[in-house]
Amino acid sequence: MTSATNPFEIAQRQLDEAVGLLGLSPAMHAFLRVPMRELRFTVPVQMDDGSFEVFQAFRVQYNDARGPAKGGIRFHPQETVDTVRALAAWMTWKTSVVDIPLGGSKGGVICDPHSLSHGELERLSRGYMRKVAYFIGPDKDVPAPDVYTTPQIMAWMMDEYEVIMGRHLPGVITGKPAPLFGSLGRGDATARGGIYTIREAARVLGLDLQDAPTAIQGYGNAGQFAHKLGHEWLGLRVVAISDSKGGIYNPNGLDYEKAIAWKQKTGKVADFPGAKNITNAELLELPVTILVPAALEGMITAENAGRVQAKIVAELANGPTTPEADQILFQNGSYVIPDFLCNAGGVTVSYFEQVQNAYNFYWTLDEVYERLDAKMTTAFHAVHEMAQSRKVHNRLAAYLVAVQRVAEAVATRGWVR
Ligand code: NAD
Repeated sequence: MTSATNPFEIAQRQLDEAVGLLGLSPAMHAFLRVPMRELRFTVPVQMDDGSFEVFQAFRVQYNDARGPAKGGIRFHPQETVDTVRALAAWMTWKTSVVDIPLGGSKGGVICDPHSLSHGELERLSRGYMRKVAYFIGPDKDVPAPDVYTTPQIMAWMMDEYEVIMGRHLPGVITGKPAPLFGSLGRGDATARGGIYTIREAARVLGLDLQDAPTAIQGYGNAGQFAHKLGHEWLGLRVVAISDSKGGIYNPNGLDYEKAIAWKQKTGKVADFPGAKNITNAELLELPVTILVPAALEGMITAENAGRVQAKIVAELANGPTTPEADQILFQNGSYVIPDFLCNAGGVTVSYFEQVQNAYNFYWTLDEVYERLDAKMTTAFHAVHEMAQSRKVHNRLAAYLVAVQRVAEAVATRGWVR
């Protein structure tokens, strides 16, 4: 990993720019630039054949000045401590920008979960929790699912924690299955939150979204729900979708139910009857009103940003736009809804899950939607107003809002001034 691609160094550079504009002290800058706490540990697991394997694991608590830290656990063969640090930093800014009373953290295990049996995965999950139990907790640090971790894994981890502590504490972890203290509405929360921000962006730009041509890159959890909700809720005409195997385009619109059925049947969106096959690169440059990157990082770069025609770029993916591309999109008048604002719906409903667990009282779906809408709408306008008043692009504005709030909490506590 080079310094240009090291995610933690990228996260630090993004912070540096915001700190400069906010005029924070050198001590505050130094404090916000690194995690407050890190735990590196091993998880030994007995495999089905009787042998033992030792897995390397991490939990990074980046900052908890605004409340208990919050962040997912990833099971991934290429996990590194720097990836976990970067993601923990971004969680800190994400919980702050949507103004929920939480900090930021992240965890990870270096493993290939696809090569583990059901029993091995359960023993690894419970083993991780045994090692981390005294480091986390409902009022300290609350994990959640992330790459290759599931609601079932959250259920095992919650159960292990309750066995260790000897009482019911479901709020130790979120993203649990709904029948086991999970929140309604978590499944599509990320896309739904993004849809609310697209609605608000159209309002401030004076754009009519009815029948607005839309392209969605990436057709997993975030992309599929963005297609469904974007069409049903905002009336968008989704003309292009893609996955890792390529994309499809039909200027008259793509039917959600049929596209999903095709993807389920064939394992890809390409070759969909009645649509033209296109590449992922072509999808980004289509004449659309809305572009939704919902795949991976680094998709809109200095090379292609000049050819993006969308009026709104709604980043459901984490890190789809490089810093150089940000400047180009800004100069060309594309309105970017930055990732840690646009995709904050997931963590917001996770926070709602913590609240419901603490009260042992559960909300209806309508209550979840109404509260999510209120949080996302308020956050959107805080960022929009910051961008207008400082004359900066929206990503930098989101950093200014988020970092300012964390710095205020740190200073008011008297940790650093
Ligand atoms: P997912 O694994 O369900 O789907 C990812 C999709 O991207 C798949 O359809 C895959 O085929 C596609 N893809 C992979 N490489 C591609 C490429 N080169 N070009 C086009 N498509 C490609 O993942 P997800 O949960 O939908 O997450 C997508 C993005 O949203 C990620 O950046 C993730 O970090 C971010 N995100 C997701 C959530 C959530 O709650 N699901 C929350 C916050 C952020």
